[in-house]
Amino acid sequence: MGVFENPAKKQAYGFPQTIRSMNHVLEPSCTDWPWQASQLRCDARFQRPCSPTPLAQPHWVAHNDVLRAALGLPPDIWTSERVLHALTGNLVLSGSQPQASVYSGHQFGVWAGQLGDGRAISLGEISTPHGTQDIQLKGAGPTPYSRRGDGRAVLRSSIREFLASEAMQGLNIPTTRALCISGSPTPVYREEVETAAVVTRVAPSFIRFGHFEHFAAHGELDALQDLADHVIQQHFDQALSESNRYAALLQAVVAQTAQLMAHWQSVGFCHGVMNTDNMSILGLTLDYGPFQFMDAFDANHICNHSDSQGRYAYARQPQIANWNLYALAQALMPLIRSQDLALHALQHFQIAYPQALDERMGAKLGLTQPQESDRALMQDLMQLLQASRVDYTIFWRRLSHSVAESAHCRLAFEPVRDLFIQRETWDAWQTRYLARLDIEHRPHQAIGAGMLQVNPKFVLRNHLGELAIRRAKSGDFAMIQDLLNVLHTPFDEHAQFESWAGFAPEWASSLDISCSS
Ligand code: AMP
Ligand code: MG
Repeated sequence: MGVFENPAKKQAYGFPQTIRSMNHVLEPSCTDWPWQASQLRCDARFQRPCSPTPLAQPHWVAHNDVLRAALGLPPDIWTSERVLHALTGNLVLSGSQPQASVYSGHQFGVWAGQLGDGRAISLGEISTPHGTQDIQLKGAGPTPYSRRGDGRAVLRSSIREFLASEAMQGLNIPTTRALCISGSPTPVYREEVETAAVVTRVAPSFIRFGHFEHFAAHGELDALQDLADHVIQQHFDQALSESNRYAALLQAVVAQTAQLMAHWQSVGFCHGVMNTDNMSILGLTLDYGPFQFMDAFDANHICNHSDSQGRYAYARQPQIANWNLYALAQALMPLIRSQDLALHALQHFQIAYPQALDERMGAKLGLTQPQESDRALMQDLMQLLQASRVDYTIFWRRLSHSVAESAHCRLAFEPVRDLFIQRETWDAWQTRYLARLDIEHRPHQAIGAGMLQVNPKFVLRNHLGELAIRRAKSGDFAMIQDLLNVLHTPFDEHAQFESWAGFAPEWASSLDISCSS
């Protein structure tokens, strides 16, 4: 289930259409958002009211007008000072009830106890043409769950989250979305002094595995059940007709998570911090921190420099997702009450993940009629990519073009061959691949055209994000907006941005991305 794949749910708008600012009631305007009441939001066991902390001299850093339109919000929100202030946390829109939620979780495989929204404040849920969407400010100041943190986010990490969320959307990968970034000159102290920013995030729900773990660990079984019932009702209503709806919920989450992992692996995405508190119950990519889209392919790639053991290395992600699903299952056990049913639901991962991966990778290779030998063909290819540390995105894009052109160009595969150090091993693989394409009984041009729709030309490489960040720090936000447009349609050619589809420069490998930001 992607952010916008929910059937729209008809619910009454629960709040008056005015905005409240410093106790003044203002005229209705583009600040009228269709807030709606939700039982869970009014429940003190899950959420606590929490006011954002204002930031001085806010300014827009980036807008996502595609998402704005999809949410059914008016175009003039970007010119409204009030919206700017509201989405920076300086005033509260009428009908919005800012809150932070409590969750716990396993971090790096170890029970971490209570965590919670330490720097995310939910403004409320709005009714949109794509169903109910939760609007969250990330970086709007401390919450009851901030522990020793400042509740802030820096401009750098906010730009990364904004662009990565939307890059994922462009790649058709389930993700939370990002509506805008606002910035402020207010200093934020990290390894060095940076400036504050707030990202407005959007998702049908930000509920995490960790929310369930929290109530299970505290033995608050009524709350656990109410949470599960809420999630089932809002997002997994097919489970309602099952004899054990909680086992059905678990299995549905297993299925969605398996799909998500196949998506990540297929585009070379490393999340970096797959703790259970960063796992979305809807199978969305959530909490963009030290993530990376791989440049040169390396199955053992670790993108988070704080991950000294490589727990979250690229190749381990599916296995870690499975581990996290076990933690979720453990939390749901008081509701499922049957170990057999829980295990059965969990075992679905062993079928669902390889199947989803076969589908994704088959599509990348242009294969529509699955053969038993396809998996070996794919695995052998991954070994070749590993041995030559081939640029992952460029490889697939070149392969797609080569297939498309191979009917009328004898040298069509040369640009792919050039990527490999051991060219003979590539030649042998190419021969097998061409024989396999014959079984498709479709013109190569059509196969290649299909491949160009699933193998992106553009991903948010670390160095591209870094260039946008450097320019933004000097007050130039144009590259963020250009990247957003390109990443929304990453399968298009965008000839004027050709350099963004090229190899990463050498300095990219020295970029140090860690957890804290
Ligand atoms: P993360 O690794 O970003 O998923 O964060 C783990 C936990 O730390 C979550 O509960 C976050 O809300 C919290 N956290 C991270 N950064 C901050 C911060 N600057 N201030 C307060 N809490 C934070
Ligand atoms: Mg997190």
